[in-house]
Amino acid sequence: MAIDNIWVFAQADGGTASTGTLELLTKANSLGGTVTAFVAGSAGDAAASLADHGAAKIYETGDLAGALPGAAVSAAMKAVIDGGDSPDLIMFPQNYEGRDVMSRLSVKLDRTVLTNSTDISVDGDSVSVQTPIFGGAKIVTSTFTGEGPFIAAFRPKSFEPAGGVGAAGEVVSAPVPDLGATGGATVTAVHVEETSGPKLDEAAVVVSGGRGLGESEKFEMIETLASVLKGAPGASRAIVDAGWVPYSYQVGQTGKVVKPTVYIAAGISGATQHMVGMKGSKNIIAINKDKEAPIFGVADLGIVGDVHKVLPQLLEALAAR
Ligand code: FAD
Repeated sequence: MAIDNIWVFAQADGGTASTGTLELLTKANSLGGTVTAFVAGSAGDAAASLADHGAAKIYETGDLAGALPGAAVSAAMKAVIDGGDSPDLIMFPQNYEGRDVMSRLSVKLDRTVLTNSTDISVDGDSVSVQTPIFGGAKIVTSTFTGEGPFIAAFRPKSFEPAGGVGAAGEVVSAPVPDLGATGGATVTAVHVEETSGPKLDEAAVVVSGGRGLGESEKFEMIETLASVLKGAPGASRAIVDAGWVPYSYQVGQTGKVVKPTVYIAAGISGATQHMVGMKGSKNIIAINKDKEAPIFGVADLGIVGDVHKVLPQLLEALAAR
């Protein structure tokens, strides 16, 4: 068995393919074989971008009509597989929607899932994924055994998206079958958090604050600096747990993984769980009053100083430009 048929769970809300989808398509396309994007909903205008990143075929479920997304999409995937188009490998993003669909699909197909992966390789009919453990200190390589489809989920930013593939992008309908008793549960409301500026996990500049800010009101300095630099504000878990900022700001093992061009950590100690979420940033600037703080171990530029002095000076200097 070769790995000829690779599916990617695709998210294309509002006709725009998510960055995570394009990352996975790019990696899938590098593995050889034919790549299919399986869209939860309608591909719409995103179809061109999916094809440009390697999707030769695009399945779309169409409107989910209030059905639970994980239940509906996994059932649609299973119906296509039962219909004869059975993938050798299915790649999911490690996010809420990806987890929801893959766990249900795993049960329906009676196949295991390897989660939290950051890389994948194919050698003939052998598929291996790499998973960081102990906060990234060790990498475990796991190889699937038995029958496919093999199912794996990948952390955001594991791969660089690259367009220009120019695959066919044939759009094929994959309607949601009757969901039985599960169809009795429907989505009654969706809350979309209002944000301005770039998304935390897509911003070129991220300015994060930690407990060293001293009090919640001081987070305003972080937001102002992020705004001036056209970036996104982020946070350590300490201040999320303290209720200073929402969980959506959290960077780290149990938050978001970011890889901006510039990451500024202000008043953050650099715990392992924080650093796994930001150490892939291209340039790291740390501001901390303790010169022994672990964050300086990964910083390209370290400023030993009080955030209450350094940040206002930085804002003043930027305002004067
Ligand atoms: P602290 O560790 O308290 O550090 C504050 C820093 O500010 C210190 O280095 C201090 O020197 C400095 N400081 C103090 N005053 C000033 C000042 N005036 N000027 C400059 N510097 C100053 N953490 C995350 O961030 N993300 C995660 O996803 C995450 N997941 C976790 C998952 C698990 C299972 C566990 C157990 C923990 C997790 N944590 C996570 C928590 C993590 O271990 C740390 O507790 C947390 O990152 C610490 O946040 P902090 O650096 O803001 O606070």
